[in-house]
Parts: sequence; structure tokens; C-alpha cells
Amino acid sequence: MPLHPMPAATLPDPAPFDRADPLRSVRERFELPQQGDGRTPAIYLCGNSLGPMPRGVRELMQQTLDDWAHRGVRGHHDGPRPWIPYAESIAPLLGSLVGADPMDVVLMNTLTVNLHLLMASFYRPTAARSAILIEEAAFPSDKYAVDSQIRFHGLDPHETLVTIAPRQGEDLLRTEDLLAAIDTNAGRLALIMLPGVQYRTGQVLDMARISAAGKAAGAIVGWDLAHAVGNAPLCLSGWDIDFAVWCSYKYLCGGPGATAGAYVHQRYRKRFDLPRLAGWWGHDPATRFEMGPDFHPMPGAAGWQLSNPPIFSTAPLAVSLAIYQEAGSQRFREKSAALTGYAQAGIAMLLRDQIECITPVAPDERGCQLSLRVKGGPERARRVFAALCARGVIGDWREPDVIRLAPHPLYNSFAEVAACLRHLAEIMASA
Ligand SMILES: *Cc1c(COP(=O)(O)O)cnc(C)c1O
Repeated sequence: MPLHPMPAATLPDPAPFDRADPLRSVRERFELPQQGDGRTPAIYLCGNSLGPMPRGVRELMQQTLDDWAHRGVRGHHDGPRPWIPYAESIAPLLGSLVGADPMDVVLMNTLTVNLHLLMASFYRPTAARSAILIEEAAFPSDKYAVDSQIRFHGLDPHETLVTIAPRQGEDLLRTEDLLAAIDTNAGRLALIMLPGVQYRTGQVLDMARISAAGKAAGAIVGWDLAHAVGNAPLCLSGWDIDFAVWCSYKYLCGGPGATAGAYVHQRYRKRFDLPRLAGWWGHDPATRFEMGPDFHPMPGAAGWQLSNPPIFSTAPLAVSLAIYQEAGSQRFREKSAALTGYAQAGIAMLLRDQIECITPVAPDERGCQLSLRVKGGPERARRVFAALCARGVIGDWREPDVIRLAPHPLYNSFAEVAACLRHLAEIMASA
């Protein structure tokens, strides 16, 4: 394949950016995926789908296996990390990451399960208020969950769902349109269920404003933070929202199927009257093991737990959330804006005629993910994506025509972004 070197003058040298990066050594704390040959390092830009493994996870998993092997049932109470309070022991790290009191967050289940559990409590349709506002292009699992909840209440999604979409010919949702939809439907909205970051475009929604408008309209406001947690700044207790759910295997590097998270606003800490689907792990721990017949929920988000936590799916989060904590939200955010900004500027400089970046340019309207549409149609886009994979760049593909690349501030470098853009430019020149 002929090489078409990029005009050298156009892309700023990444080296000074990497040298000045206060988080550059954090990369060493991860085992980064290899190319298919199992030896050559890949350029891993797929943390939006599955984060890489923090090195410390091996050790903690080994220790956990040893605890199980050597202590057996005593591991529930003994050892460096006893299993009974395992989820609670990680809640402070989780709370600080999402801007919430540890009481109001919990690690449990997986995302879609948590969405159902919290809708069981918070989607309580009445004759006057039964509608749910979601985006038309919602992640399928969220759409299925919402539809099935509506049916579960004996209602018809066709009449009960209010959907919002970008305007004709646009990719991004406009805040003004979201606010107008809330306003127009104010009298009938029971629930607003939107993504903090849209998975296909990488757009960050204005969670503070939309939540405030939703509450003013009398609706319950829930957020799906699958693509926002560990990516966009979150200040859950500062926003007037009711609940949020997220998964932990994307930006949070919790490993495949990792235990997910949920947030419930502090005003519900002692709302023991709320209908909820109960299990023994949500019971007041002081009397949980008295094994009584009546459910007495513990205050806070932990009162929504059902079962004892899956330790092997939770342990990696003890490691990865500690890395987030050490990195610090300020430095994380600054690097994220700079790293993705570097990628975005590079694409605009070198590939403007070839690639349309549909992710917003303003740093507070995006996280680290860039969503790229290759000009020349889906077939060409598919070829470009395949060629990028063949060159060892791991990103992902979203139908019908979007390539997603997510340079993560904890483990990606400016040099990797530059190399990725160089590959793209070479591929474009021959595709
Ligand atoms: C990743 C993702 C999910 C995945 O759901 P699981 O229950 O974790 O399998 C759901 N919703 C959104 C918006 C996502 O981005």
C-alpha cells in the first residue's frame, strides 16, 4: 500500500503535550490490550465500550481467590476486605466520583437491572401523569426497559412515550428543544429518562438545566450515566435529579459485566414508604441476619439492593476508582479536554474533507469520545474502520455509519492520538 505521509507541518508535535501531562505516569497502572498477534501494543481507544484492566486488579483478584480458598465462609467477616460490607466500602470512592454523598450511591447489579429497580419505585403513572420522555435514538436496552415498564403498568408505549430527536439534518439534541418538550408536556410527564452523554454522538446533555426544568414541570428526573460516569463531570447532589444509573465496565474500567452503580437523591433516604422491589441485602444491616419476615429497608441508595454483592465483579472497582481518585477530577478533566481537543483539531486540520466529527467541539458539551462519520457513505466508512483495526487501532463501530474513538485521559497519550490520526490520513488517501 502506498504511503501518503501527512503534511508534517499540520499536526502539532504530540511530544511536548505528553511531557507536560501530569497524568502521563497513570498509564503505567493499566495493562493495555495488544493487537491480534498478542504481542504488538494496540492503540486502545475503546474505553467507551470496555475499559482496559488496571494492573492492580490481578493482585486483588488473586488475594480475593486466596481469601475464598483459605478462609471460606469466614471471608464474609475477616480479611483485608470482608465481603459483607464490600459494596459499602467502595461507596465513598464512588460518591466522590459522581459528586454525591456515599449514602446516596450504591454498587449493585447491572445497569438495566438498576434502571428497572429504580423505575419500579419512581415511575408511578397516574391517570393525569403517565408519560415518559426519552430520546428517540435511546440506547436499545433503555428503550426496551422503558417500554416494558409502561406495559407492566397496563399502558401503551405508543401513547405514553414522548420522544425527542435532533432536528432534521442534525445529529445533536438541542437543549432548547429538550426544554420545550418538557414545557409542552409538563402536565403529563411522569418521568424524564435521558442519557448524560449520548452514546452514539458523545454529546453531553445539560444535566443541570434539563433536570431543573423537569422538576419544575413536576416530573421525576432520572439519568442514564453509562457514558457519563468517569468521563464527564458529574455533580449529582448539586443537581435536582431523582435518580441515576450507570454501568462500570466502560470508562470506569471495572471489567466485563462489572457491578453497576445507582444514585438516589437524598430526599428519599428515609422514604421507606416508597414502593420498591425488595431483597435481603437492602434490609437494615443491624437486623438483616435476624432473618425476620418483614422488610425494613436501610436508609439511602443501599436500601435498593437485593442480593449480596458479586465480589469478583466488584473487586476491580476498588482498584480503578482509587486510580480515579488519585488522578483527581480537575487534572482528569483538563487532560480529557486537551487530549480529545487535540484529536478533534487534528481531524479538522487534516481530514476535514474526509471525515465529519459529529461530537460537539465545546469541551463542556462532550466527554472524551469522538464520533466520526466518514464521508462517501457507510460502505467506505466500513472499509476505513476495518483498515484502522488492521493497523492496530481499537475503536468501535456504531450502525449505520459512525466510528467511535475515545482517548481516555488515564491511559491514552497524545502520541497515540497523533499516530491514530496519521493512520486515518494514510487510509483515507488510499480508500
Ligand atoms: C452500555 C449501555 C447499557 C448497557 O446495559 P447493561 O445493562 O450494562 O448491559 C445500557 N444503556 C446505555 C445508555 C449504555 O450506554
